[in-house]
Amino acid sequence: MSNSLLGSHLVRLLLPIALIIGVLLGLGQIVQIANANAGFSTNLPYILFLTAIALGHTFKQSTMAMVSIAMLVAYFVIQQRLQTPLSTGTTLLEVSLLCLLLPVACCLAYLFPDTGLLNKTMALFIAILASFILWSYLIISHLAQGGFADFSDALLTSVPQISSLPLVLVLYCFAISGATGIFLLKYQRAIDASVYSSVLLASTTFIIFHLPSISSTLFSLAGILNIIYLISASHQMAFNDRLTNIPGRRALEMDMKHLGRRYAIAMLDVDHFKKFNDTYGHDTGDQVLKLVASKLTSVKGNAKVYRYGGEEFTVLFKGKNAADSHQYLDDLRQEIADYQMVLRDMDHRPEDNKVGAAKRAKSKASHVSITISIGVADTSHTRKPNEVLKLADEALYQAKKKGRNCVQRA
Ligand code: GH3
Ligand code: MG
Ligand code: MG
Repeated sequence: MSNSLLGSHLVRLLLPIALIIGVLLGLGQIVQIANANAGFSTNLPYILFLTAIALGHTFKQSTMAMVSIAMLVAYFVIQQRLQTPLSTGTTLLEVSLLCLLLPVACCLAYLFPDTGLLNKTMALFIAILASFILWSYLIISHLAQGGFADFSDALLTSVPQISSLPLVLVLYCFAISGATGIFLLKYQRAIDASVYSSVLLASTTFIIFHLPSISSTLFSLAGILNIIYLISASHQMAFNDRLTNIPGRRALEMDMKHLGRRYAIAMLDVDHFKKFNDTYGHDTGDQVLKLVASKLTSVKGNAKVYRYGGEEFTVLFKGKNAADSHQYLDDLRQEIADYQMVLRDMDHRPEDNKVGAAKRAKSKASHVSITISIGVADTSHTRKPNEVLKLADEALYQAKKKGRNCVQRA
């Protein structure tokens, strides 16, 4: 559940590329279908982006709604102004401006926090979009009046075999699609997937703008992907723990219904965490919980991790018994015990970075470490998930009694 197919960042990276290849291979049939349902196929992107915007409003995902608004406006411009051949009037210039500004508009979403839609942030975003349109209008009317007479032709050189767009813009499309793709791989959030797929599909549309039905097809696909990412983001919000951003208790309860015949459940608990909180403060305690969660997500053995509550975590190993998972858990315990956390003393930080570095190098007190205790149980005595979990909890209690910082099998 927490690892749905479209949740994998590699799938999210490759999917739009696969869709573009599919569209290019099947363009003949797509054009036929589009011509037979002309009204529907032209209006489909509007329906999809409006749906995405409504979902963004409902789920308070305003940044993804911003991407859909930018795409909707761009599609409107394409339908209203750019249905004439590229060689006529100012069409090529208008496509070029749109190709330049739409990715910027999509990336603007990164600058805003996620909120509802009806507020100042959204007003500011709309105002920026309006300024883009005004600026484009001024450039286009200046050109129509014979301006830019000595505008460098070299800058607008195109290679017709690749695209009617100026070469510099084609390169820009590749660069910005690549950059948003790297963001997706690095941060792996739904907004990254939304910006990347929109920028890539829109850029491809502009590069092969001369092909029939290309804008309605690729913008429809962008709309569908935006809706999927919005739903998956709200799904994650409902099932993930807010502090650590790993799946929470609700996700665990759902997943415990589909465990199969053989599995192991481990319960983990941070040792003497109350004392840690009392010594270093609750905020530092929160940082530690985040750190433990991030270490947990790299546990080997195809495991799934959850925050059970407080300073307790749960790990599920499907298809494994307690003995199989023991080594993975012990490696994890060791890794956490060895990790030296640097505590930032926010109240006494020197202004000068160099002084700060020197102070950090000198002070040993700013390094702390924590340990965890683990209890693990499997299906050798009972196959009921709640009972296995209870056995793991009892084993955890034994681990605490044995002196903590160890793994105990039920
Ligand atoms: P033991 O080694 O026996 O597990 O001792 P402990 O102190 O870790 O156990 P205890 O259950 O007495 O205390 C758990 C503490 O975890 C109490 C609470 O302040 C802290 N805690 C629970 N949730 C959070 C949280 O979200 N953030 C922070 N900072 N602390 C939390
Ligand atoms: Mg506890
Ligand atoms: Mg504890």
